[in-house]
Amino acid sequence: MIDSYGRDINYLRVSVTDLCNLRCMYCMPEGGITKIRHSEILRLEEIYELVKIFVSLGIKKIRITGGEPLIRRGIVKLIQNIGSLSGIEDFAMTTNGMLLEKYAGNLKDAGLDRVNVSLDTLDRKKYRDITRGGCLKDVLDGIEEARKVGLAPIKLNTVLISGFNDSEIESFVGLTKNEEIDVRFIELMPIGRTKDWSLDKFISNKVVLEKVKELKKIEREDVSSPAKYYKLPGGRGRVGLISPVSHKFCKNCNRVRLTADGKLKDCLLSDYEIDLKSALRNGENLKKIIIDSVKNKPERHNLEKGEYIKRNMTAIGG
Ligand code: SAM
Ligand code: SF4
Repeated sequence: MIDSYGRDINYLRVSVTDLCNLRCMYCMPEGGITKIRHSEILRLEEIYELVKIFVSLGIKKIRITGGEPLIRRGIVKLIQNIGSLSGIEDFAMTTNGMLLEKYAGNLKDAGLDRVNVSLDTLDRKKYRDITRGGCLKDVLDGIEEARKVGLAPIKLNTVLISGFNDSEIESFVGLTKNEEIDVRFIELMPIGRTKDWSLDKFISNKVVLEKVKELKKIEREDVSSPAKYYKLPGGRGRVGLISPVSHKFCKNCNRVRLTADGKLKDCLLSDYEIDLKSALRNGENLKKIIIDSVKNKPERHNLEKGEYIKRNMTAIGG
């Protein structure tokens, strides 16, 4: 599918739940979220039906996300069903890793290619604080298991938070020295009800290059990837910088999102949504609705002009 700005839309991110077993400060408001009614959430068969249509329209990359995807009951079966569709070249999941040790083997067997694991600190106590209760050891065990079963290459997503983990940048970069792991620093985005917290704690990704001067830029293998990649001299893994705020990458954006309640979002940072769930349940022409919607994908986001969105990240699927 080509949008009105000539971008080839070939990547779908699918949120399978808005719920989570953690409460990261930049993602979930302290009091948690208002639960979406069960009947409003797509059933697993509905997610599969919609994904099938997207794949028939040229989607080649799929990422399963949430909320926390591994708490959705039946997730392995869904992965198996999607994994058996032909035409998908890259099938991945973003997870907080809490349940990864338990599920990694099943996910691999079901056809998942790889995982991105979110990890913002390597300190046990700080991890518990930022996630409001999470256990760092569970995540590390999950990463180890994912590596063992071959859900690779593993990518770590680290949201940079001023005064919290900027002191750990060198340690995160150091992980790429001897291991084939990508560490990707993500700029904090002001989204939903955690907007003010995020605006307050934002730091630009350029601090990574200021702190680790040895990092050398490497050629992009995939121009549509939002990450710019760097390497330590002789390093086995890579360091990625994802900078939606300081360097927007809308020009190369190739993705759309399906939320857990069945809305198609052409842009993460726009409140405009199309209700695919109702269209599916009413037997409407989904292919046409999707193609028309993609044509209207916004050219760019306008965070720098203070255009923020209302939905929380958990309800979108980051
Ligand atoms: N629960 C899973 C996880 O944490 O990996 C998947 C969903 S989570 C919403 C997906 C990604 O969005 C995570 O890597 C998280 O760090 C990132 N994220 C959430 N809120 C964000 C924000 N305000 N700014 C930047 N990244 C954010
Ligand atoms: Fe949950 Fe992921 Fe959001 Fe953290 S970032 S609260 S793990 S959905």
